[in-house]
Amino acid sequence: MTRMTPLLERNEQFARTYTPAALGLPTAQVVVVACLDHRVDPAIVLGLQLGDAPVIRNAGGRVTQAVIDDLAFLAFLAEQLSGGPGTADTLFEVAIVHHTQCGTGFLADPGFRQQTAAATGLPEAALEASAVTDPHTTVKADVEHLLTAPSLSPKVSVSGHVYDIATGRVTTTVDARYPQQPA
Ligand SMILES: [Zn+2]
Repeated sequence: MTRMTPLLERNEQFARTYTPAALGLPTAQVVVVACLDHRVDPAIVLGLQLGDAPVIRNAGGRVTQAVIDDLAFLAFLAEQLSGGPGTADTLFEVAIVHHTQCGTGFLADPGFRQQTAAATGLPEAALEASAVTDPHTTVKADVEHLLTAPSLSPKVSVSGHVYDIATGRVTTTVDARYPQQPA
């Protein structure tokens, strides 16, 4: 017995009627960047099915260097899967989704931040930068951050959204834009 036991039983149910999705371009042509919070699972909130969209999740759904690196790889992969460089004019849209009541908001409190830094060894400045207190503000900042990342493919657009935990509704804060387009 592990805590995974009931989940593995659910998987057994799942596998009984499962049909594998072939490796190909995600059918929604969207890559979602979202918080790891268990209340904001993009598959459920956005109704994603297998094969629809890659999802990158971290604390806050922030655009970190690791996220930028993954997106560079995904863009290269999408280009290969669509027939090689120069075949497709556009690849996919990156939808950054931040949410209300985010647990990273605690990091805006200096005392909590100091304790977190001491317990985890993570730099306090990095913890402060990762805090989502106003998701509308942070998602806007992360869209801009990603759009200016040198490794972002010019064939990838970026949009920003906020998920409201209280209503279950996602609203668009920043419309999809390509890197070279002015704001
Ligand atoms: Zn969160």
